[in-house]
Amino acid sequence: MEDMQVYLFEEAAKLNLTKFELGGKGYGLVEMTKLGLPVPPGIIITTEMCRRYFREGKVLLKKIEKIVMEKLRIIEQKTGKRFGDPSNPLLVSVRSGAPYSMPGMMDTILNLGINDEVVAGLVAITGDKRFAYDTYRRFIQMYGKIVMKVPGEEFDKVLEDVKRKLGAKNDLEVTAEGWKEVVTLYKELIKKKTGKELPQDPKEQLISAIAAVFESWWNPRAVEYRKIYKISDELGTAVNIVMMVFGNLDDRSATGVAFTRNPSTGEKELYGEYLPKAQGEDVVAGVRTPRPLSELKNTLPEVYNELKRIAGILERYFRDMQDVEFTIEKGKLYVLQTRTGKRTAQAAVKIAVDMVEEGLITKEEAIARIDPSDLERLLHKQIDPNIKAKPIAKGLPASPGAAVGKVVFNVEDAVKARENKEKVILVRPETTPEDIAGIFAAEGVLTSKGGMTSHAAVVTRGLGKPCVVGAESIKVDLDREIFEVNGIVVKKGETITIDGTTGSIFLGSIPLVEPKITGAIDKLLSWADSIRRLGVRANADTPQAAEKARSYGAEGIGLARTERMFNAKDRLEIVQAMILAKTVEERKRYLEKLKPFQKEDFKGIFRVMKGLPVTIRLLDLPLHEFLPKLDELLPEIVEMKIKGIDEDELKKRERILERVLELREHNPMMGQRGVRLALTHPEIYEMQVSAIFEAAIEVLKEEGDTVRLEIMIPQLSEAEELRRMRELVDRVANDVMDRLSVKLEYKVGTMIETPRAALTAFRIAKYADFFSFGTNDLTQATFAFSRDDVEAKFIPFYVDNGILPNNPFETLDIEAVGRLVKIAVKEGRKANPKLKIGICGEHGGEPRSITFFHEAGLDYISCSPFRVPIARLAAAQAALKKSLELKSTA
Ligand code: PEP
Ligand code: MG
Repeated sequence: MEDMQVYLFEEAAKLNLTKFELGGKGYGLVEMTKLGLPVPPGIIITTEMCRRYFREGKVLLKKIEKIVMEKLRIIEQKTGKRFGDPSNPLLVSVRSGAPYSMPGMMDTILNLGINDEVVAGLVAITGDKRFAYDTYRRFIQMYGKIVMKVPGEEFDKVLEDVKRKLGAKNDLEVTAEGWKEVVTLYKELIKKKTGKELPQDPKEQLISAIAAVFESWWNPRAVEYRKIYKISDELGTAVNIVMMVFGNLDDRSATGVAFTRNPSTGEKELYGEYLPKAQGEDVVAGVRTPRPLSELKNTLPEVYNELKRIAGILERYFRDMQDVEFTIEKGKLYVLQTRTGKRTAQAAVKIAVDMVEEGLITKEEAIARIDPSDLERLLHKQIDPNIKAKPIAKGLPASPGAAVGKVVFNVEDAVKARENKEKVILVRPETTPEDIAGIFAAEGVLTSKGGMTSHAAVVTRGLGKPCVVGAESIKVDLDREIFEVNGIVVKKGETITIDGTTGSIFLGSIPLVEPKITGAIDKLLSWADSIRRLGVRANADTPQAAEKARSYGAEGIGLARTERMFNAKDRLEIVQAMILAKTVEERKRYLEKLKPFQKEDFKGIFRVMKGLPVTIRLLDLPLHEFLPKLDELLPEIVEMKIKGIDEDELKKRERILERVLELREHNPMMGQRGVRLALTHPEIYEMQVSAIFEAAIEVLKEEGDTVRLEIMIPQLSEAEELRRMRELVDRVANDVMDRLSVKLEYKVGTMIETPRAALTAFRIAKYADFFSFGTNDLTQATFAFSRDDVEAKFIPFYVDNGILPNNPFETLDIEAVGRLVKIAVKEGRKANPKLKIGICGEHGGEPRSITFFHEAGLDYISCSPFRVPIARLAAAQAALKKSLELKSTA
C-alpha cells in the first residue's frame, strides 16, 4: 500500500509527527487534539504530500481526493453535519501551514462547501439570512481570488459599490439583501473574468482548493519571504481541512487572537484582541479595529476564563509563550491555532528570564532561545527623553524603537529609496503580505488602520523595525501621495519620526538615543557569562568607548587602535611636521611633542579600565595617510601659483607635495605600514611605548590601579619582525620603569592578519605572549579582496547570485580564513603552550563567527562596544552547542 499521508487530527496525534511533516499550524492542531482542547475536527495532508504533488501533479491529487473524502465521512458521522447537505451542512476551511511560520504569505479558504442550495439551507437552519449570505460571499471572494485567480481588488470594488449604494459605513451595516446582491455580483464577476461558473459541487471546490493551497507555496510574496528569512524552498506546505465554526453568527460569537503573555513587554498576562461578530480574516487584515481582550472579560466572562485556562495549559505544554487563534460560536470557545508567539526583543528576554524563575525552563534553554540579533534590536534607538516634541498623532505601539525617515506610500518607492541609501517610513492605510519588500526596505512602518496583531504589527516585530498601527486620525490618500492629520498635510518625501514604543508620530526629524541594558537583560547576560568559555573584550580607543564597553560587560580591551589618536585635529599638524622631518633627530623632536597627547589618551583609557587588560596596538597606518591627498594638494598648488600670492605658504605646500610623492604607494594596504614602518622608523614605536609605560605608571601612582598592559604589533608576516620589536619594547619599557622606579608586568604579542603569519605561527609564537587575529586584514589578504571597496562593488552581487554564501567581511569565511586561524592556533600553541589567543576583527561580534572561534579554541573575542552583549550571548550559545554535541556523541 502506497504511503498516503492524509490523517484525521486524532490519527496524526498517535503518530508523533513533527512540525516538518505537519507544518506549524497542523502541528499545533494535532498537539491540542492530543491535549483534549476544544479543536474543531479536521484532516491534515502532510508537507510530504505537497512535495510529491509538485512532482506528480494531478495523479496524486486524485489519490488525495479519495482519502480526504473517506476521512470527511468520519467527521460527518461524528458531527452529524454533512458536506453539501443543505439540511445540516458541514463547511470547512482549507488552510496552508508551513514548517516555519510565514504569516499571511500563503493562502487559506474559509466556508468551503457552500453553494446556492446550502446557503438556502443555512438561512432555514439559523434563521439568519444576513449571516448565511455573508458566509457565502466570503467564500466566493476567497475562492474566486485564490483558485480562480480573479484579482482581489475586483471583489473589493464590487463590495464598495454596494456599500455606497446602501449607505453602509462598514461591513456590519450591510443588510441581508445587500450580501445577497454581493453574492450575485461576485458570481457574475467570476463568469466575466474567467468565462467559468463558480463550482457548485462541494467536492470540486475542495479538491481545487487543496491544489491551490499547495501552489500558494510559490506565491511571489511567499518566495520573497523565504528569501528574506532564509527558509528553504524545498519544504512545502501542509494542508489543514478544518470544520468551520462561526464567529460571525450572533452577538455571542466572536473571533480573536490571544497571546499567553504580552508580546510587546513580556508581562505575564493574557493579552490580545477580538472582534465580535466577525470571521478570522477580519482581525488579521485589520479591516476593523479590534477590541482588547480585557473587554471580553466583561462581555463573555465564562469564555474569557476558559481561554485563560487553555492559555495556561498550552504554555505549560509547549513551555513557551503561545499565540492562539480562537473563535467563539454562540458562546462556545474553539481554539483554531496555537504557535510560538512572535515577540519583541524586550519581551523575548523578559519571558525567557521569567520562565526560568517560574521553573518552566532552564537557564540554558533561556540562553538558547534568545536570538543574538534580538539583543541587537534591544539596543534600538529611542527618542531622546530630553526632547519635548509634540506628536501630530498617536496610534498603537506595535513594534518598539524609534525611526526617522522620509514618507513613502508604496513598496516600489520604499525599495528604490533603500537602493539609494535613503531612509524612509512606509505609510499605508494597512499593510498586506504583498508589502513585505517595502516593509523590509523601510526604517519603520505607520498604518492608519489595524490592531496590534495586524499584518504590519506582526511582520515589523519579527524584523525588529519600529511600527505604529491604527493611527486612525491619519487620513492616508494613496493617489495623491499625502496623509492628513488635524489640518496638517504631510507629502511624500517629507521627514517624520515614529515611536513604536509609545505610538507617537512626529513631524520632522527628532533626535534619537541608544537605550541602556537593565533588569532581565542583565540577568540573562550574567547567566550567559557563567556558561561561556570565551572571554569577551571590546575594541575601544577612547575613554568614552571604554566606558561604554565596560557598561556592556566587556572584560578588557582587546584592541586599542592608536592611529585614530594621531588623526585627531590638534595633533595632525605635529604629525605632519614629524613626517616631513628631514632627519631622525628632527623627527624625534616632533615625536616628543606628540608624546604628551598619547600619554593622556592612554591614561584616560587605563583609568576607566581599572586593572582590566588593555591591548594597545602600536601604529598601523602608512604615513602618507596623515598627509593631504594628492588630488587635493595639486589643484591647491596650481591655484596658488596662478594667483601668485603667499610665497611662504606655496613653498610649504610644495614641500608637502614632494613628500607625498615620495611616500606614494600603488598598494598602500600592502605597503610600508605597521611593523614594516616601525622597523625602518623605530623612533615612532619608541615614543609610543614610552608614552604607554609612563601613562601606566602614573595611573598606578595616582589611582592605585595596576594596568594590565598588552602591547600588540600589527601587520606581521615574519617571526624576525616580532623578535626585533620585542627587543625594542623591552628596552624602552625597562628604561621607563628604571627611570620611574616601578616594575610593571606586561605582555608583548602580535596581530595575526597576514596569511604568512598564520602559516608560520609556530616560529612567531616563540616571541609572542599572545596572538590576536585581525580577521579584517586576514580576509582581505586571503581573498585578495580590497576591504575598502568590494562591499560596495561586487559582494552584494556575489551573495545575491549564490557565488558566496555571505559577505566574508561580515561572517567569517570558515573554509579558508578559518583554516588559517585553526593552523595558527594549533601550531602556535604547540610552540608556546602559554600563548593566549584572541580575535579583534569585526567578526568578533558576529554570532556565527563566534561559534567558530569557540570551536577553534580561542581564549577571547573582541568587538565594538555595542556588540559586547551580543558576543556574550553568542559565546554562551556556542558553549551550549558544543556541550550538547558532546552529550549526543557520549
Ligand atoms: C583587522 O585587520 O582585523 C584588525 C582588527 O585591524 P584593522 O581593522 O585596524 O586593520
Ligand atoms: Mg588589521
